[in-house]
Formats: sequence, structure tokens, C-alpha cells
Amino acid sequence: MLTDKVALVTGASRGIGCAIARKLAEQGAFVYLNYNGSAQKAQEAAAQIVQAGGRAEAVQCNVADFEACKKMIESVIEKSGRLDILVNNAGITKDGLLMKMSEEDYDRVLDTNLKGTFNTIRHASRYLLKQRSGSIINLTSVSGILGNAGQANYSASKAGVIGLTKSTARELASRGIRVNAVAPGYVETDMTDGLSEQVKKQMLQQIPLGRAASPDEIADVALFLASDHSSYMTGQILSVDGGMAM
Ligand code: NAP
Repeated sequence: MLTDKVALVTGASRGIGCAIARKLAEQGAFVYLNYNGSAQKAQEAAAQIVQAGGRAEAVQCNVADFEACKKMIESVIEKSGRLDILVNNAGITKDGLLMKMSEEDYDRVLDTNLKGTFNTIRHASRYLLKQRSGSIINLTSVSGILGNAGQANYSASKAGVIGLTKSTARELASRGIRVNAVAPGYVETDMTDGLSEQVKKQMLQQIPLGRAASPDEIADVALFLASDHSSYMTGQILSVDGGMAM
């Protein structure tokens, strides 16, 4: 159970982040659901959690903005007095072949996925260090492990998240703070909805389990990493990909 725990999930208005927020709340945590543009969706997701008997609040912040992340973390601490679980889930794709990729598409993906993860950890770590406890969970990807043609920016950002996870885990371990990552494969969300039927078919052929994951299947592993069931794990990258990267 996560009773009395306070969690912040970035990119929780929909998809995997929303599923993680719901599962953390079901276990008793107060959950802050961060969003960037989808205010209505985030507020609806928070309201659904409250209706189901949980505690939740939606918070706007562009994770790519260093100062905005500082304010978001400070407001969580001001309201709840602590932060126990930080899930860095916010992410975007801007796919294209390297030869045609614009500087802007490269920068936007790196700024959101990698710098965004740094930004929240950087500001939250101050409070986690004082608490001498906490669990940080970062969302990386099978693309960050294997690479993926057409996703040079995204793969670089997610490989960066793996390095960031391991370095942060080493820095914070002595204060009882654990830092781990989840590496999903192909998950059915808005992010993958726009892919062509041909690309979806090709991806399914690479998955030994032969199907895409639901957001809940990724959220279950994030919940495990947030809980004391993983109390002796830090610096780990857990693949949840139907066997893609084995
Ligand atoms: P999604 O359905 O597209 O949702 C993305 C979420 O991120 C939304 O809540 C969005 O909020 C938020 N977001 C985007 N930019 C943001 C920003 N600058 N600041 C704050 N929030 C921002 O994506 P998903 O499929 O659930 O993916 C979640 C995570 O899992 C990502 O890190 C993704 O890379 C990773 N992942 C996904 C898959 C997959 O197959 N789906 C596979 C491997 C890894 P707004 O709508 O408010 O902008």
C-alpha cells in the first residue's frame, strides 16, 4: 500500500502516465497529474480518481522548462509537505529519417524527453535528499536500447534517460533514494495510434508475445518500482516489451 505517499506523474493526462497515476492512487497515494496542453483530459483523469475514492490533482507544467519544473515541484511540496514518488513519463515523438530531420524536431524531442526528466529530478532531489527516501521512475523505451530507424532523436533521448537513471541512482542511493526506469516496447496509446498499419504490422512481427501492451501492463511495473516490493532495486532498466529486446 502507498498510504500517506505523495506522487507526481508527468504526462498523466492520457496514455501510460494516466494509467500509472490511477494505479498509484488505487494504492492510496495522493497523486499530482502533470500535463502540458491537455488540461481537460488531465482534470477529467484526476476527477475520475477522486470519484473512485482516491486523492488527485491536475498540475500544468511544460517539463522542458527548467524554471516551470522548479515551480511545480515547489508547489507540490508547499501543498503536501513531501514527495515520495516521481514518475518521469512525459514524452513526445517527432519521427523522421536522420537525413531529413530538422534541428527543431531533434531539439524538441530531446528537450521534452531527456531534459524534462533531468529538470524534475534536479528540483525534486533537494527535497528527497532531506527526506532520505523516495522512488524515481523514468520512462525510457526499447528504442533507447536497440535504436530504431526513423527515431534518431527519440532513441537518443531514451538512451540518455538510461544514462541519467543510472548516474542519478548512484548519486542518490546513499540517502535511500532509488532511481529505476521502465522500457516499454509497443504500447497502444495516442503516441502509437498515428502509425501506419504497415509499421504496426512490422512492429508486431518483432514482438515474441505477438501483441502490443496495454498502458496498464506498463503501469503495473511502474507501481512495483514505486512500492517497497522493489526496496532493494536501484539503477535498473526493466524492459516491458513482450520480449522485443531480449
Ligand atoms: P501519449 O499517449 O502521447 O501521452 C504523452 C503524455 O505526455 C501526455 O499526457 C502529454 O500531455 C505529456 N507531455 C508531452 N509533452 C509534455 C511536456 N512538454 N510537458 C508535460 N507533459 C508533456 O504517450 P504514451 O504512449 O503514454 O507515452 C508515455 C511515455 O512512455 C513516454 O515517455 C514515451 O516515450 C514512453 N513510451 C511509450 C511507448 C508506446 O508505445 N506508447 C513505448 C515506449 C516508451 P499533454 O497532452 O498535456 O501535452
